[in-house]
This record gives sequence, C-alpha cells and structure tokens, in this order.
Amino acid sequence: RIVYVNGDFVPEEEASVSVFDRGFLFADAVYEVTSVLDGKLIDFDGHCARLDRSLSELGMSMPMDRDAFLEAHRELVARNDIGDGLIYLQVTRGAADRDFHYPADATQTVVMFTQAKPGLAENPQAQTGIKVISIPDLRWDRCDIKTTQLLYASMGKMKARAEGADDAWMVDDGKVTEGTSNNAYIVKDGTIVTRQLGNEILPGITRTAVLRFAREAQMKVEERAFTLEEARTADEAFVTSASSFVMPVVEIDGARVGAGAPGPIAKRLRDIYIEEMRRAAS
Ligand code: PLP
Repeated sequence: RIVYVNGDFVPEEEASVSVFDRGFLFADAVYEVTSVLDGKLIDFDGHCARLDRSLSELGMSMPMDRDAFLEAHRELVARNDIGDGLIYLQVTRGAADRDFHYPADATQTVVMFTQAKPGLAENPQAQTGIKVISIPDLRWDRCDIKTTQLLYASMGKMKARAEGADDAWMVDDGKVTEGTSNNAYIVKDGTIVTRQLGNEILPGITRTAVLRFAREAQMKVEERAFTLEEARTADEAFVTSASSFVMPVVEIDGARVGAGAPGPIAKRLRDIYIEEMRRAAS
C-alpha cells in the first residue's frame, strides 16, 4: 500500500511518525473517513468542511486547503488502484516534548491511507441488517468533534461481538445518543426520528445527506432524542455512516425491531443515498 505522510507518498513500510507525536500521546488529533465508489470520492466537501470545524474547535487550522486535500485523496486512490473503499485522513497537532499544554510551534502531522473494500455498496449485511446492543454513553461531552479518542467505541464493539451482536448504541439519560461509529435512527408510523445535533453526537456527513434525501422524498423527519424503549417498539431502525451508508438494524438487545428484517424506509433511503451520491461523487 502507498500511504501519504506529510507531503510524501511512500510504501507503508517506509512511513513514519515521531514517538512524540501528540496524536499518539494525547489523541490530540482529528480524522475523517471518506468512502470511494468507482474510484470517486463520496461527499468529499462535506468531510472537508467537518475536518475544518473539528480542527478549529481544538485551536488548529487546516494544514492544506480543500483543493490540495482533494488532489492528495485522488492521488492515493489512483496509486492504490482503489475502485471501492475508504480513505482515512488524520491530522494531529504534531510532535513536541510531552506536555499537556499545546506546544506553540509544532508542525501538524498529516497522514492518509486507503482501505480497499470491493463491493462496498453491495454489502450483503444490508440485506439482513445488523444487531445492536445498548451500552451507557460514557464518552466525554464533545462528541461533536471527530477526535481519534476511540477507545470507548472499540470497547463497545468488543462487548457487542462478545454478545453475538454487530454494534452498540449508546444511551445517555435513557435516550439513545448514537452508535459507536454511526448515527442512530428509528422509524415509527412513517416518521424518521434521529437525535438532534449537539455536543453529544457527531454531526454525521451521511446523516446530513440522508435527512435531505428523506425530506426531498416527502418523508417525515423529526430531529429529537428518542428512548431505548421507543427504539425497541419502533417499526424500523437503522444507522448511517460514511462506510456503511444506510444500514438497517433488526435487533436491539436481543429483541426484534418491527418484523426483524430490514424495513422499507431504510432500504429506500439506502438506495437513494447510494444512487445520488454516486452521481455527485468527485
Ligand atoms: N457517530 C460517530 C461516533 C462516528 O464515529 C461516525 C463515523 O465514523 C458517525 C457518527 C457517522 O458519521 P459520518 O456519516 O460522517 O461517517
């Protein structure tokens, strides 16, 4: 694999980052994951805009402009011959002698790599749906910033796997915040419900697009918190993310959602999303 490190495209074996990098020592870093379909980037501008926001919330700025990021992404796709897959991009505050305070003069570290995922849009899991468990949301209160502090998400996914499920939905004060790496939705009597934006959840790039497509298709959308109990008795449930697009959820804590099969609204939104985003890909 050819990866990108601070301006260079190099074989992964030759890439290196300092042991003093604050991304490594403090998770003082933000990231983006953009999907690639047919060699083209899905919603690149959305991911770029969120990267800018995440950085600015942490007192950092964009290490390069949008066009330079786009060119680097395209170069990586070409060099790795990616048809369908993902591009991971991480920006850290850089390397400095270990100190909790931000260094005054560190140079940001920028890393990008690809993950090939042939048939990403035809993921067979979308036909069967996924099972989720619920776990308390024990994360910090700035989940709106896409930092690399992902240990709690990893723990959640491990707990889900140990219990025979695919993922976990996090619950705060009885209400679902989001999935470990996706936004969470339920459908009741034709209305799509997903938590409103705020510090408790990541403003998903896929979420923004899916809600727009839902409204354009005259579906009813309510952006509000919903309880775990509402989710268990919903007609449908699903999650959205850049890597899974729209993924039906068919079981929550061992109880079937609706008929226990992917619901019509989730299926329709998945089809619309993939079709529209392929068309608009860069
Ligand atoms: N919520 C969390 C916690 C995530 O980690 C992610 C994606 O990784 C999402 C939501 C979905 O965001 P997006 O649609 O931009 O991939």
